Amino acid sequence: MPTTRNNVKVFALMGIFIISAILMSGCTDEIDNKDVNDTLPEDLPGEIEHTEDVPEHHWGYEGEGGPENWAELGYPECSGYEQSPVDIPAGTLLHNADITFNYNPSELTIVNNGHSIKVEYDEGSSIEVENNTFQLLQLHFHSLSENTIMGEHSDMEMHLVHQSNESEYAVIGVMIESGPENNAYAPVWEHIPVEMGDVQTIRGTNVNAVDMLPENLTYYRFDGSFTTPPCTEGVKWFLMSTPVELSTEQIHAFKEIYSNNFRPVQPLNAREFY
Ligand SMILES: [Zn+2]
Repeated sequence: MPTTRNNVKVFALMGIFIISAILMSGCTDEIDNKDVNDTLPEDLPGEIEHTEDVPEHHWGYEGEGGPENWAELGYPECSGYEQSPVDIPAGTLLHNADITFNYNPSELTIVNNGHSIKVEYDEGSSIEVENNTFQLLQLHFHSLSENTIMGEHSDMEMHLVHQSNESEYAVIGVMIESGPENNAYAPVWEHIPVEMGDVQTIRGTNVNAVDMLPENLTYYRFDGSFTTPPCTEGVKWFLMSTPVELSTEQIHAFKEIYSNNFRPVQPLNAREFY
């Protein structure tokens, strides 16, 4: 019957259409994921909603993708008035060590994402400060340090990125300088992926962020932004005044992979220290 034949044709066409749609959506997903990952700021959690206006340009730390071009590359907030990092001027008052750290060990989940080495932290670790609770999402490293103290860089800087239930961000910065070998960092350092790649969980290896903090927990408190595109502002910064020490070998091992993943300091403008 003609109708049946037509139906068969229609079904066949629909089949082809559905298969193409699945194939195409598969491809788009791949492209979307790649673009989203490439533009995911170091300081944001591992997941970000897919958006249609993900910029195509690749940012980095030198050349055309360098920090001075981030705003033009599609991240306008990078030219904002409360950007990070900053220089802590001489005479800045230290804040009391009043952060409560409720950090627990986490299984080591680590990635070299092309901009830094990032450790994604298991749920259940948080800080309490300024009458709010912020969950620890991830920590990652920069070399040289991004913030500077009286114009001086440290060898490296660790950023511990937290988020509150109201989606406010709090970043604790820890300066890293050379000294004796630091065993608290060993689990991370033993598994640093030299090449950019996928997130991997190292079963049976734990990391404990509380051991990675300096002994003295006084800090400089200021407002700023993520230091990577899209440079989102409204981030509460807690920069530890005392560095932690890693051996020159440990620092060198990181610099072999990333020796220039720091954004230059940004103007303080009207900002004050708390
Ligand atoms: Zn950072």
